[in-house]
Amino acid sequence: MKNWYKEDTYKSYKSRCDFVKPGNKDKLYIYQRDLKRCFYCGKKLKFHQITLDHYFPVSKGGTNDVFNLVTCCKKCNKLKADFLPEDYEAVILKLFLTAVIDDKIIGKGLNIDNKKLKKELLNVNRIECITDRFIFQSNSMRFYIKDNYVTKVVYLGG
Ligand SMILES: [Zn+2]
Repeated sequence: MKNWYKEDTYKSYKSRCDFVKPGNKDKLYIYQRDLKRCFYCGKKLKFHQITLDHYFPVSKGGTNDVFNLVTCCKKCNKLKADFLPEDYEAVILKLFLTAVIDDKIIGKGLNIDNKKLKKELLNVNRIECITDRFIFQSNSMRFYIKDNYVTKVVYLGG
């Protein structure tokens, strides 16, 4: 048995994993979430073939949050450019709720624990505003989100 070969493969695999940057972990998450297919044409892609497309374009204030990024083949990415899809609110809302369920959206410096926060985030039903960050809203709360973190929560009247 040539165990040295296996071990070597494992080692190189492990060292590659150790060098995965946080951004690449998000990329892997998005790739798996989108079932390894281009979000637009549905073509099945290998991980190294993918690009990430900002659904709400950067040029219009879109961010790098996981719910604003979709798996995309190079061809579709080029075609989409900075076009803003009409259905962006519904799509981003769905990707946002998926990210909440997957524990990708958590609080940072808040006086509310993540379990309770998650419960509240699942009530989000609309995008309030997109400037340099996304602001989501439920019927009772408003959430300010940047880099997949909830940085501010505002309780709405009542
Ligand atoms: Zn495509």
